[in-house]
Amino acid sequence: MAINKEAYEQLKADLGSHHIILVAVSKTKPVEEIKELYALGQKDFGENYVQELCEKQSLLPKDIAWHFIGHLQSNKVKQIASFIHLIQSVDSLKLLHEIDKQAKKNNRVIDCLLQIHIAQEETKFGLDETELEQLLNNIGGFMNVRICGLMGMASFTDNMNKVRNEFRHLKNIFDRHAALTIDNCQLTILSMGMSSDYPVAIEEGSNMVRIGSLIFGARN
Ligand SMILES: *Cc1c(COP(=O)(O)O)cnc(C)c1O
Repeated sequence: MAINKEAYEQLKADLGSHHIILVAVSKTKPVEEIKELYALGQKDFGENYVQELCEKQSLLPKDIAWHFIGHLQSNKVKQIASFIHLIQSVDSLKLLHEIDKQAKKNNRVIDCLLQIHIAQEETKFGLDETELEQLLNNIGGFMNVRICGLMGMASFTDNMNKVRNEFRHLKNIFDRHAALTIDNCQLTILSMGMSSDYPVAIEEGSNMVRIGSLIFGARN
């Protein structure tokens, strides 16, 4: 039960030299381990449950940049709206509408990524390309959200060719919309890659990786 400092320092050096943002995924891990990593200079942390995130946020340093990476229910947005740094898992207009509303109440703008469904598995959340187009056509009225990029998860498989193709597909979608010039939407962040597939994700153009088990060890 300790963080893998060596793996972390190595990752930080490798990613830093390529200007890739490392989000340390701390879900299920205790605040003590988050503090250890924070002491090494890590500021970006990712969580996927609202309640767990809120508890940790209240106990940990206020300059941590919290990323929400799990499926987010509209009725829970208000619990994280005051402090969340980046919501990476926006997958509907309804959710975006609620984030805009709660951001406004908190007198702030909340940065978001749109989650794109690239895996073949049924269980993974996200927008398909048609839904992405529809959403982008309807965000003009939102004054308190900023769409900063896209996020995707590849299939859970050892077949790295398959994983690579899925990441490549997402990069294509990203590139096709990169020139968009809506005030509250500039796609600059491409969040793809986890412990098992981040090297492939980076080769395919990722500039933000979300890494848990490699740093914190396996989850129960
Ligand atoms: C858990 C999780 C990760 C990190 O997974 P690891 O395999 O532990 O690196 C990344 N992204 C999302 C969306 C997750 O839920």
